[in-house]
Amino acid sequence: MRELSVKQEIEDLRKKIIHHNKLYYEKTQPEISDYEYDLLLQRLKELEDLYPEYRIQDSPTIKIGSDLLAETKIMPHRVRMYSLDNAYSLKEVEDFYARITENAGFFPEVSLELKIDGFSINLFYNQGVLQYATTRGDGNEGEVVTDNVMTVRSIPKRINYQQEIEVRGEIYLPVGEFKRINRERESQGEKLFANPRNAAAGTIKIKDKAIVAGRKLESSIYATGYFTSTEINTQKKLFRFLQDLGFHTSSHTAFATGIAEIREFCQRWEKARAELDYEIDGIVIKINDFKLREKLGFTSKFPKWAIAYKFKADEAITRLLAIKFQVGRTGAVTPVADLEPVQLSGTTVSHATLHNADEIKRLGIMIGDYVTIIKSGEIIPKILYVNREIRPENTLPVEFPENCPVCGSQLQKEEEGAIYYCNNINCPAQIQRRLEHFASRDAMDIEGLGEALIEKLLAEGMVSKIEDLYNLDYEKIRNFVRQADKSVENLRSAIEKSKQQKFHKVLFGLGIRYVGAKTSQILSQHFKNIEKLISASYEDFLEINEIGSKIAASLIDFFKNPESIRTIQRLQEAGVNFQAEKISEQETLKGKNFLITGTLSNYSRRQIEEKILSLGGNILSSVSKNLDFLMVGENPGSKLQKAQAIESIRIINEQDFEDLIQAR
Ligand code: NAD
Repeated sequence: MRELSVKQEIEDLRKKIIHHNKLYYEKTQPEISDYEYDLLLQRLKELEDLYPEYRIQDSPTIKIGSDLLAETKIMPHRVRMYSLDNAYSLKEVEDFYARITENAGFFPEVSLELKIDGFSINLFYNQGVLQYATTRGDGNEGEVVTDNVMTVRSIPKRINYQQEIEVRGEIYLPVGEFKRINRERESQGEKLFANPRNAAAGTIKIKDKAIVAGRKLESSIYATGYFTSTEINTQKKLFRFLQDLGFHTSSHTAFATGIAEIREFCQRWEKARAELDYEIDGIVIKINDFKLREKLGFTSKFPKWAIAYKFKADEAITRLLAIKFQVGRTGAVTPVADLEPVQLSGTTVSHATLHNADEIKRLGIMIGDYVTIIKSGEIIPKILYVNREIRPENTLPVEFPENCPVCGSQLQKEEEGAIYYCNNINCPAQIQRRLEHFASRDAMDIEGLGEALIEKLLAEGMVSKIEDLYNLDYEKIRNFVRQADKSVENLRSAIEKSKQQKFHKVLFGLGIRYVGAKTSQILSQHFKNIEKLISASYEDFLEINEIGSKIAASLIDFFKNPESIRTIQRLQEAGVNFQAEKISEQETLKGKNFLITGTLSNYSRRQIEEKILSLGGNILSSVSKNLDFLMVGENPGSKLQKAQAIESIRIINEQDFEDLIQAR
C-alpha cells in the first residue's frame, strides 16, 4: 500500500511541476512563488533518492524546464546550456566545497557571482559580428530572439574577436523599469507581471521589436559556450576577456579560497541584496580553474563544478485582521489582506495580496486566522498558507462582495477565470481610465484631453461621469491650463467635433469589456444604431460570426446596467452620434442592375421600377451576364429560366428586395 501511495505522490509531484514549468517558462505567468515551486521539486528529489525504482529519464529533477513553444523558430546550441544545482542552506554549500576539495586534493579557488534573477541568453558571434541570439530553450536548442536582443544596449553587436564564439549571460530588468512597465500595463488593463524575472522573460518573446526597445533590458555576461581558446583557462581570465570585448559583467564578482570567505560573501549579499537596483535570488559559486571543471564534469541538468546558494524566502507569521476589496482601474476586484503589522525582509508588512476569489477558497482562510506570509522574488508579499492548527476561536468566514465596494454596482464574474469585475461605466475607481479611453485617438479622438487634464478635472470635481465632458465649465479650465486662450478653444472645438464621431468609435469609447475597435465596427455594421444594440439578446449577439460567448455576455452585462443606459442617453442629449452612417437613399442600389418578371403584390411594374431607379439602380431590358438581380413575382415568364442558367444572377422575391434595401 505504502509503495503505491509513494508512486502516486511522485507522479502527482511530476505532474504539478511540469504544469508550473509551463506557466513559468512558456507563458511567463507563474501561479506559485519560486519558493513553493522549489519545495515541490525538493520533495520530488527526496522521494526519487529514497525510491530510485521510480526514477524516470525525463523527470523534472533531471531535465531542465524548457521555454520552447511549438511555433517558435529554434536553433541548436553549439554547446549545451545547463541549469545550476541549488543549495538551500550554507551547510549544503559547505558540503559542495568539501566534496570538491576532497576530489581535487587541495582547497580550490572559486568565483562568487551574484545570481541575477533574469533569464539566460546565448549570443553567437562569428567574424566579430553578432549572428544570432537564442534563449536557453530545452538546453540543446533555444528560441531565436535576435531582433529583440539587438535592442539591448549593453550587448555589443560587434566585437574584436574573429573566431566563432558563444557568449552567455543573463538578461534582466532593473526593478524601477519593472515597476514602470507594470504601471503602464495596469493603466491599459493588462495582466501584471509577477516579478522582474517574468517581465524580462515575457519581454524577450514579444513579436513587436519597438515594444521591446521601449523596455530597458540589461545584460550581465558570465560564461561562454562554444569557445576554442586555451589561453582563457580560468573564470578570472574569462571575465577580463569578456570585459575587453565590451560585454557588461557584474562589478560585484569576488574570488575566494576556503569556506569561510564563501560563507561571508553569501551572508553579506543575502542582507545587502535590497540595496541593488535589480533582483538577485542567490550566489553562484563556481570553480575558477577550467581544468578542474573538466575533471568534475556535468550531470544531465547541471555542472558539478558550480552551485547556486539560494537565498531564503523570508517568511513570517501574522494575523489576518480583515480583507478589503479593492477595485482597480480596470474594474477588477482584488481582495487584499489587512494584516497585523510584522517585520519581513527588513520592512514592516501590513498587507498581502490574495489575488482572487479562488485563492481565498484554495487557502481556506478565515478572518482572524494566523497566516504565514512570504516575500520571494515577488514585490508584494503573499499569504503562503493558513496555520490551521492554531486557528483561534471566533474566526469569521470571508464573504466575497456581490456589489462593487466603491459604486455599489453588481459585480460580474469573468466567464473563464476567477476575477470579478465592476462594469459600471462611471465607477469612481475607474473613471480616470475610462475617460482617458473615451478621449483616446481610436475612440472619440479628443485632442488635448490627456491623462493630466483628466486628473485635474476629476480633482476639481468638474467631471465625475463620462457625459460631464459635454458640459464643461471652460472658464474654470482657463485657470489651470497653460496658454489658456489657445488650449481652451482647441479643447472646446475637439469636444464639439467628437459629437460627430462615427458610431463604431463612440461604441469603442464606451469601454465595454472585450469590445475592442474591431468588434465595435462589426457591431456598428450589424446593428446600425444604439437602440437596436441595447435591445439585442445574448442569442442575437452570438448569431454574429465574429462574436463569441465572452463578448456577448459582456455586452449584455454592460447594457443591463442602468448607469450605462443613463450615460448613453445623456450623451445622446448632448448630441453625440449613436447611429451608423446611413448610405444616402440615392446610393443604396447604386450600380446594381435589375429585371422584373411576374406580378408583384405590393408594387405595380411602374412603381417598382421607379423605386429601383430612385435608389440608384438600373432596369435592364433582358437577361444577360450584366444582370445582378432578377425579381420574381407570381407567374414568372421565361426570364426566370434564362436567369437560372447564369450563376452570377441572384434571384429574389419581393420580401428579399425589401430586406436588401433595409440592409444597405
Ligand atoms: P536557476 O534559476 O535556479 O539557475 C540557473 C540559472 O541561473 C542559469 O540558467 C542562469 O540563467 C542563471 N544565472 C544568474 N546568474 C548566473 C551566474 N552568475 N552564473 C550562472 N548562472 C547564472 O535554474 P533554472 O533552471 O533557470 O530555474 C529554476 C528556478 O526557476 C527554480 O529554482 C524556481 O525558483 C524557478 N521556477 C519557478 C517556477 C514557478 O512556478 N514559480 C516554475 C519553474 C521554475
